[in-house]
Amino acid sequence: MPNRQEQQGRQPELRRRSESGLVDPRLRNDVLALILFVGIGTMLSVRFSLVSHLQILLEQHESIAWLEGASFLIVLLLGTLGFLIRRLYVLQSRMASVASQPVVEIVEDAGLHDPVTELPGRQMWKRRLEQELSRSVRERSQVAVIALDLDRFKQVNDVFGQDVGDALLRVMANRLTGVVRDMDTLLRMGADEFLIIQPGLDSHDGAVSLAKRLIAATVEPMQVGEHQIPMSISIGIVLSSSDCRDCEKLLQRANIALDRAKVAGGSVYRFYEAEMDLQLQLRQRMEQDLRKAIDKGSLALHYQPLFNVTDQRLLGFEALLRWQHAELGFVSPADFIPLAEETGLIMGIGEWVLEQACRDALLWAGDRKIAVNLSPIQFRDPELPSKIAAIIKRTGLPPERLELEITEGVLIEDADTALAMLVELKALGVRISMDDFGTGYSSLSYLKRFPFDKIKIDRSFVSQLVIGSEDAAIVRAILALGHSLGMIATAEGVESAEQFDYLQLEGCDEAQGFLLGRPMPFEYALALCKVPDGQLENVVRPLAAAHLPRVAAGRG
Ligand code: C2E
Ligand code: MG
Ligand code: MG
Repeated sequence: MPNRQEQQGRQPELRRRSESGLVDPRLRNDVLALILFVGIGTMLSVRFSLVSHLQILLEQHESIAWLEGASFLIVLLLGTLGFLIRRLYVLQSRMASVASQPVVEIVEDAGLHDPVTELPGRQMWKRRLEQELSRSVRERSQVAVIALDLDRFKQVNDVFGQDVGDALLRVMANRLTGVVRDMDTLLRMGADEFLIIQPGLDSHDGAVSLAKRLIAATVEPMQVGEHQIPMSISIGIVLSSSDCRDCEKLLQRANIALDRAKVAGGSVYRFYEAEMDLQLQLRQRMEQDLRKAIDKGSLALHYQPLFNVTDQRLLGFEALLRWQHAELGFVSPADFIPLAEETGLIMGIGEWVLEQACRDALLWAGDRKIAVNLSPIQFRDPELPSKIAAIIKRTGLPPERLELEITEGVLIEDADTALAMLVELKALGVRISMDDFGTGYSSLSYLKRFPFDKIKIDRSFVSQLVIGSEDAAIVRAILALGHSLGMIATAEGVESAEQFDYLQLEGCDEAQGFLLGRPMPFEYALALCKVPDGQLENVVRPLAAAHLPRVAAGRG
């Protein structure tokens, strides 16, 4: 159950001295010092008979009131002078001692805490880790650097707003604080990232046990105001070792391990392993190469044909991106599209794909459609409709020939904005397909909310399809659903004649797959377009069986 403090919506009680009293202790000390020095000044002035000396000196003026005023001023000056000397001394000794001060005190003194969670903030991690690393050398122990990240925190901000997001971070900080030891340091590194520095270890067992406690502490939903929000964390851990005591490197390695934990799906911890470095290097190299490929124009589009199931008419093509890497050979879009998405390169690539596909489609005879895949990253761009409108205008492709394929991932993140975007795109006159249908979460509710023109049944249901199997039942159900909502149904991944025949029997509208044609270069697609419709039935299956591009090249 969420604890009482969470239910009352209180901030975590973190170790901040200034919260313990009403008056800032530093201000209180200064006032006390001032009183002390004024007192000492008065005593000194009395001790050296200052008043009586002044009295003798100024007797001829016979103005006792003036005399009292002057002596009071001198006392005050002495007091202030003493106070200033003390402040200078305090400042100097604070600067000298700051390096050895405990982190919480430094944070309070210098205001280096994170205002949302009141934990030490990002500015503190390096200094704190350096301290623990040098201590670990003296004590022959190890330090664990533990990077934590909240799983799907962005959704909380999107759904409940930033205030609830901030409150959730405080609740999380409170739970994590309850798990770490006094000698550990918990910091907020930014957004939904935390860091724990765990010193005094002699093996990785201590870090494992802390990671397990951290995960256990986040099992129960977070109580934020009236909301109960489930929130898990992912954890990446690295231990200092004699060959790595570099702060930056340790943090980088903890983050690499964290990425691995994230991929594993949340509520998971992973230790850094050297092999992860190699993968990171490979990834960085791929990123550089991809940038070069874009600059040099070495990305290409291949086209996979789509056929009408009833009469096997060629209806159009799906544009599929290809990267011919100089050393690695053909790199699958399934591998480099995620990289392009993470690095933002997908924005430029995606626009190029759209424009190139529209230009190519104009050269095909008839009104054949061209389907283009849209990444969820492109989909988040509010400028997307105007960019597509500009491409349609520049190329002159009739908009109804362009089909935009989106996946359910687009709708899961922020359904309302995504649905508004779909309406805007639809208004351009283009057609919209739901790709890979059946692999996401809430397919049905989205189908109800937005009238897609087409659903494409994911190939995982089709390519293993055997009559009488579960897959066959699922395909039948999707076809019935799509048709009842007035949508065209396309089966992806048709690999055998039996599958094709089953789809025909069940009334599937369109089909795409290796049986009917693999993705092929533009010239081959052009050649395929020239085959008269009546002859396609005789051409397509033998072509696919004999690897379409090779045979088509012979014809082209
Ligand atoms: P997708 O949009 O579902 O495309 C269909 C994928 O299934 C293609 O893989 C295609 O080659 C493959 N396929 C088609 N028929 C068969 C079959 O009978 N058997 C098997 N095993 N596979 C078949 P590809 O070209 O590797 O593309 C993979 C994914 O990469 C695409 O899945 C799409 O999500 C993404 N992608 C490709 N091009 C682009 C692009 O230009 N932009 C974006 N954002 N994503 C793209
Ligand atoms: Mg697709
Ligand atoms: Mg697909």
